[in-house]
Amino acid sequence: MKEIEQIKKFYQEAFRKLNIFTAILGVHGITLGQLIFILPSLISQNENQKLKLPENLAAHEIAHVLQYQREGILKFIYKYLRSYRNNLKQGKKWDKDARRQAYLAIPYEIEARQTAADFVKWNERFKLK
Ligand SMILES: [Zn+2]
Repeated sequence: MKEIEQIKKFYQEAFRKLNIFTAILGVHGITLGQLIFILPSLISQNENQKLKLPENLAAHEIAHVLQYQREGILKFIYKYLRSYRNNLKQGKKWDKDARRQAYLAIPYEIEARQTAADFVKWNERFKLK
């Protein structure tokens, strides 16, 4: 019983930190391997009381899951952070806008945005008009 409480506490703390992280970075979600963390304020309920995510965001984070699988977790994280650091260095600025631009220029982010845009466009065909 005590173990379950500890596990619960661990996850609550991890989620709290990730929420702060998403707020600082100004991102709506973070993917770690196969785990996707979404800013709670973006989760809503549909008319059937089921939880709902913005489809563009869901597709974007799923694209990152696939990138992790393709590259391997360590290689993905290494290349992602290296690219972010190089982008920041090139811009020679460290303010919030420069950090945002450095983040947007990471090739994995460009690919995930394109994949999500393609998915949304493709999925439009199946929606009721
Ligand atoms: Zn992303």
